[in-house]
Amino acid sequence: ASTAATIALEGRFARELPELSVPWQAEPAPSPELLALNAPLAATLGLDAAFLRSVEGVAFLTGAALPDTATPVAQAYSGHQFGGFSPRLGDGRALLLGELRDPDGNTHDLHLKGSGPTPFARAGDGRAVLAPMLREYVVSEGVHALGIPSTRSLAVVATGRVVQREVEFPGAILARTASSHLRVGSFQFAAATGDVELLRRLADHAIDRHYAHAASAEHPYLTLFESVVKAQASLVAKWMLVGFVHGVMNTDNVTISGETIDYGPCAFVDVFDHAAVFSSIDGGGRYAYGNQPVITEWNLARFAETLLPLIDDDADRAVERATGALGEYRAHYSEAWIAGMRAKLGLAGSVTDEAVAPLATDLLHLLHENRVDFTSFFRVLASVARGGDRPAVLEVDAIGEWAARWLELSPDAGVMDRVNPVYIPRNHLVEEALTAATAGDMAPFEALVDVVRRPFEERPGLERYAAGAPAGSGPYTTFC
Ligand code: AMP
Ligand code: MG
Ligand code: MG
Repeated sequence: ASTAATIALEGRFARELPELSVPWQAEPAPSPELLALNAPLAATLGLDAAFLRSVEGVAFLTGAALPDTATPVAQAYSGHQFGGFSPRLGDGRALLLGELRDPDGNTHDLHLKGSGPTPFARAGDGRAVLAPMLREYVVSEGVHALGIPSTRSLAVVATGRVVQREVEFPGAILARTASSHLRVGSFQFAAATGDVELLRRLADHAIDRHYAHAASAEHPYLTLFESVVKAQASLVAKWMLVGFVHGVMNTDNVTISGETIDYGPCAFVDVFDHAAVFSSIDGGGRYAYGNQPVITEWNLARFAETLLPLIDDDADRAVERATGALGEYRAHYSEAWIAGMRAKLGLAGSVTDEAVAPLATDLLHLLHENRVDFTSFFRVLASVARGGDRPAVLEVDAIGEWAARWLELSPDAGVMDRVNPVYIPRNHLVEEALTAATAGDMAPFEALVDVVRRPFEERPGLERYAAGAPAGSGPYTTFC
């Protein structure tokens, strides 16, 4: 497409579920400037990167110049935030522009964040600060490159507007894509209306977009639930296997698709710690690294509650069926986690789960006790599998016995290097890039995006991107 008018934005969500959104327009950006454009993603979407860089393209990316047919909306949703239910959250500073169909026929939501206050803004100003939008861009790009389902970032445009927080910051709009923005919170909102036919339309919409097989199942809505249980179990296992801490796993930030969404106070663990918490607003550690699997289970229980009237007309039977399906979560999680750990340790399929699980658990215990950098450890371990000398990072108490047990099982270093990243969006690197960007220098950000796009392929000259947090960098804190 070389003009905004030729970009086909379907308004399917807006049209099929008008009760779940409010038609709305983006606030004009006084002086828009494109700071980051994801050209590979644009190509995947069938969008012309040269157009997106043009004045009209940037206007499109801020919601100012949309095709006449577009029906931008602020989506309504509820959510349990840190365990407490908020019936009316919704897109307070975001808009769904519509759905794009890529050249392969896949549908992607195109969504803006930071596009001005909507009827869901409550006390918020509807705006976003540049640094957190760039954080979402680079971290989601890294998560995607690690093979983890995620929303993607298409662009960050500085608005030219000053945003008032504790101090003044430059404002920005993030344009992102998702296979949809349907959340557990969307179902909570629909369920709370008491309109079961609305809930059914939402569930049918979700089935059609993500789990088409459920439509012809004997119990379509139970099958929808089971599918989301599987997708979320697989997702959180993948986070655990790379040390990703989402930071704000409220039910409005849990997708039906199983994609990672809402990169706010997220971070990767450096030294391994089950209790790792980075978010400034999570003093109680509800969303600590090690809690994530059980929090996902809790969030899925909230999802199940919304579906009960669709699962069975008989309330007791509905509860029984939903409880049975939720009961499968732990097995799905364990299966995904053990399979992932098997690969991280380079172990063949012939090594039983019963052998992999304690080996992995014992190792994590050692990493924790000895404050070892989680990401670099596994690459170093591959060099041990290759018969190299045991490097300093492995000179920790009791690792010798552990390594002997592991080497007995003939680990394959090639397998390990395909799943254990060298490069992740490390906290200190992200911070350095965002600080430079806020001061007007985008070069460190661009370099970091480039590095994290190929996480498994070690390249010369990039040693500083592979290294752990500098000594004395202290506890890392993230803000929404
Ligand atoms: P989050 O913690 O990012 O998932 O956001 C929780 C809720 O707060 C959502 O309903 C957001 O739309 C809303 N929100 C966050 N920041 C702002 C803001 N600056 N203005 C309006 N709404 C906001
Ligand atoms: Mg959110
Ligand atoms: Mg957020």
